[in-house]
Amino acid sequence: MPLIRQLSQSLINKIAAGEVIERPASVVKELLENAVDAGATRIDVTAGGGGSELIRIVDNGCGIAAEQLSLAVASHATSKLAEADDLFRVGTLGFRGEALASIAEVSRTVIRSRPSESESGAELEVSGGRLGEITPCGCPAGTTIEVHNLFFNTPVRRKFLRTTQTEFSHISEAFTRIALGSPQIHFTLKHNERNVFELPASDGWVERIAKLFGRDLADNLIYIESSGGSDESVRLAGYAAKPTHSRGNNRMQYLFLNGRYIRDRALQHALGEAYRGMLTTGRFPIAFLTLDMPPELIDVNVHPTKLEVRFQDSGQLYGQLLATLRSKFLTTDMNTYVQSADSDPKEVDEDRAKQTAMRQELVDWAKHEVSAWKGSPDGDRPRSERSSGDGFPRESSPLSLRRLDQPSAIPAGGEGARHDCGRPGCRSSESQETAGITRGVDSRAVQIHNRYLVTEAEDGVMVVDQHALHERILYEQLRHRISEGPVETQSLLVPEPVDLSPAEAATATENIELLGKLGMKIEPFGGDTVLISGYPAMLANINPGEVLRELLDHLMAGGKDPNLEDLLDELLHAIACKAAVKAGDHLSPEEVSDLLKQRHLVDDPHHCPHGRPTALIFTREELDKQFKRI
Ligand code: ADP
Ligand code: MG
Repeated sequence: MPLIRQLSQSLINKIAAGEVIERPASVVKELLENAVDAGATRIDVTAGGGGSELIRIVDNGCGIAAEQLSLAVASHATSKLAEADDLFRVGTLGFRGEALASIAEVSRTVIRSRPSESESGAELEVSGGRLGEITPCGCPAGTTIEVHNLFFNTPVRRKFLRTTQTEFSHISEAFTRIALGSPQIHFTLKHNERNVFELPASDGWVERIAKLFGRDLADNLIYIESSGGSDESVRLAGYAAKPTHSRGNNRMQYLFLNGRYIRDRALQHALGEAYRGMLTTGRFPIAFLTLDMPPELIDVNVHPTKLEVRFQDSGQLYGQLLATLRSKFLTTDMNTYVQSADSDPKEVDEDRAKQTAMRQELVDWAKHEVSAWKGSPDGDRPRSERSSGDGFPRESSPLSLRRLDQPSAIPAGGEGARHDCGRPGCRSSESQETAGITRGVDSRAVQIHNRYLVTEAEDGVMVVDQHALHERILYEQLRHRISEGPVETQSLLVPEPVDLSPAEAATATENIELLGKLGMKIEPFGGDTVLISGYPAMLANINPGEVLRELLDHLMAGGKDPNLEDLLDELLHAIACKAAVKAGDHLSPEEVSDLLKQRHLVDDPHHCPHGRPTALIFTREELDKQFKRI
């Protein structure tokens, strides 16, 4: 029979540390939370060697009295909680009293602190959980905590650490989350003597977002806010980025619940839904949102790092977020921002009013066309060829009919051209009205709603999604070029510096060789900047920095072992999508014609690279059936 033994406190702490402290970024998160809780107005973070050599956090908060220092590093010792166990009822970020104990167990931790009312400070060193002497020291008011040699006594943890750059990118993310949560606090972040962020205190989010993610994003945000729930006690506010600014993953969706950063799948999904039709598959919206609600509406969750929570009524929240975004988008002219829209008409046009308007346009157009054909001797010719004296302004019509260059040889009529339903007064209109348009494939096409091309197919009517088709064509062309040889690099006369986010920079420097194989030649240029000295020659028309970011997005999403083929393929997809005409682009008659002509050149004309169909065909037989002719 095995003996049951009480674990030593040190072992208990190590196990607890395993839960809370996974990597250097976890230390940064915990220490930053403590500094925020201490009421600091300025917090400076320094990391060395990806945080495993050193993490130093200096705050000007309330400080810890000398006689309390050893308690601060004791487990289950906290100043933040008396008895309540609801973490969201607590006004502080920490409350479990475990962080300092855990950190001190797996590193050499030095704490120096002075409450502002004390004359001198005190210092305590804890190495691998062993407390040293508390000694007086001179220091500014506030607390400085240094964590040296993280995981020195837990080699397994140490072994699992990734490269310095990767670990630092996690630190940078942890820092970003806390810095977004408290824009009123002045934060700085330094890595290996390099200043990464300098974030002065700011009233609102826009300035902080600008400093963290760049002015361009900050200038392209849409403010949203709403109240919901049974007594309007659920308040949602923040910013969503215009669809021109999206990401290849959902990491740029920052959500703060009662001041604490959380991740919530349902809310991420609601965001995706709200942008449906405005972003292509594989792109994710960017958002910064705060959610404030009474704590009793949140179920206590035991997630050790408190990253996930359970809402009592997540359906209500989902609905509120979706409705808020949608109604905001409707009153904002999103179309001019849309970069690459999905084109499923069902999803795009969910707004009923818009749908009705579109339908009305279509009906009006059809009426005009029919009466024009009937009333004029050259009525079988496209309207654009006629004089505009028909009272139908040519340019302003959203649905102008176009003629394609090449009339086809397929004769009018064809087998089974006439199907009368037999009722008095009803006869097939084909022999008269359609005689002129039975010219065969692509002889006549119309662009509708600046997004679909409607044309005749040999066996019916074809509706082509202009973006999806163009994307497919470009993709095939790029693939073809690649199959003919290795990716050719176009050297830049003057290397181009590109500023990246810390995570992107880390990914870039870790994958220099792989990127080289894709034709992208880069080198580190200090900080989060890299120099592009050459890039894939086939992408001559696209900004090299954009290509690089695209590649990095895919690399970051792909995890540890990216497959070169897949990456290349994803890149081609992404590039084709970027370069293709968009839903909403008005095309000239020549462009319409060109696009449809090239349709026959691609291997798989039926699907865009994302797998959506490029064209729908309503067969003649199907139409006949629907109209009860057969
Ligand atoms: P928790 O934050 O859950 O209370 P910690 O182990 O992180 O637990 O910290 C233990 C205690 O040490 C805190 O409750 C707080 O009183 C004190 N403390 C930690 N960091 C600081 C700091 N930067 N400034 C002031 N007090 C601190
Ligand atoms: Mg804490």
